[in-house]
Amino acid sequence: MKKYDFIIAGGGMAGLSLAYYFTQSSLRDRSILILDREQKNRNDRTWCFWEREAAQAGSGSPAPNPFEAILFRKWNTVSFHGTTHAGPLDMGEYRYKMLRGIDFYEFVQNELVKWPNIEQKQVTINRIKDTPQGGFVIADDEPYIADYVFDSTFALKLDQPENHNLLQHFKGWVIKAEKQCFDPTRPEIMDFRVDQQGDCRFVYVMPFDAQTALVEYTIFNDKLLADDEYDTSLRQYIGRFFDTGTYQICETEMGVIPMSDETTHEYPSEHIVRIGTAGGYTKPSTGYTFQRTQRYLRSIVENLTETGKPNRHLPWFLGRFKLYDSVLLNVLEKHRHPADDVFTRMFSRNRPATAFRFLDEDTRFIDELRLFTTMPWWAFTSAFFDVLRRKIVG
Ligand SMILES: Cc1cc2nc3c(=O)[nH]c(=O)nc-3n(C[C@H](O)[C@H](O)[C@H](O)COP(=O)(O)OP(=O)(O)OC[C@H]3O[C@@H](n4cnc5c(N)ncnc54)[C@H](O)[C@@H]3O)c2cc1C
Repeated sequence: MKKYDFIIAGGGMAGLSLAYYFTQSSLRDRSILILDREQKNRNDRTWCFWEREAAQAGSGSPAPNPFEAILFRKWNTVSFHGTTHAGPLDMGEYRYKMLRGIDFYEFVQNELVKWPNIEQKQVTINRIKDTPQGGFVIADDEPYIADYVFDSTFALKLDQPENHNLLQHFKGWVIKAEKQCFDPTRPEIMDFRVDQQGDCRFVYVMPFDAQTALVEYTIFNDKLLADDEYDTSLRQYIGRFFDTGTYQICETEMGVIPMSDETTHEYPSEHIVRIGTAGGYTKPSTGYTFQRTQRYLRSIVENLTETGKPNRHLPWFLGRFKLYDSVLLNVLEKHRHPADDVFTRMFSRNRPATAFRFLDEDTRFIDELRLFTTMPWWAFTSAFFDVLRRKIVG
């Protein structure tokens, strides 16, 4: 059996990003096998994220995003509708960016076909296990082995009672309206003008042009809705806030993203590395995954290049962000304070750029203390002690 240097199990966002970073590194000649059951030839999702502009960022800024050239849209200002603030947020040095799944898949595939050492197979993975000889994968009854298997197919089990296990679930429509009703310069990142029903519910509107937009109804809680409930909420929101005339639904996307502080095992054994959502790369308190995945994978490739091992070593002091995530999840899960007001305070009582930087885990401790003073103190203090209690008592 041929032994590969690397097997990438799951060629979705994380798997293909990793393969792309390999081609841009000194590991570009290694033998690589990518396994996925899908062909990835549909626009199955759209990624939005914020990023500091490379030209404006100071030293220590993250490397520029290699997918900049294929962004579908990029905005300098975003809108927010909360409890006490409605209107634009000044993003400072940040830009809000949108990348369509299909553009990403095509861009990476166009690069990968240039490399004869990179093989791809459309198969279903049945099993991944570690052996003394390397990471072992069985897919469609065929065995494959490699020095390292990078696995983005592992399904997280989020069931430990001492943790917070919420879900971010959403349904989005790309609609084409009869009338010009969207402002293409102003995406709405959170519009809380929907019935909260005791949860955190908001709508997200990404305008492509004056007549076309992705409108997404999003909930943070632990129970999915029936499909038609998302549809009803979307219809009501569009009818209430946009003078569309008639409209057509051109595309639909649905998603469920874990919002959990459960400890994930990024390195479950010597030859297996979990990446993407499977590796716990999703930011627990927001569900954003794309940018963190890019950051973490770049660091895996750097480590492999420099040391021959993929392990990322996080400085201990960055562990504080895990605690902040748990506290925010606790506030949401226990309904300690209305979520719409928590996010309104975060974005309106702080410089929005500081809030984005905080959510990127890139702030200084002093900035974090300042941001905490803008939060409802009783809700956050009780959440903090509850998190400590759950960690100690279990
Ligand atoms: C609709 C949607 C919209 C999202 N929008 C955003 C956003 O705006 N911003 C953001 O930061 N994050 C967003 N996310 C979250 C996250 O960025 C995505 O889920 C992202 O695709 C996760 O990357 P991944 O590689 O971990 O998983 P995927 O991209 O899902 O890749 C996993 C791959 O593994 C394959 N696979 C799984 N099991 C097997 C098997 N047994 N055999 C073979 N192949 C298998 C799948 O076919 C898939 O291609 C969104 C998620 C969804 C679902």
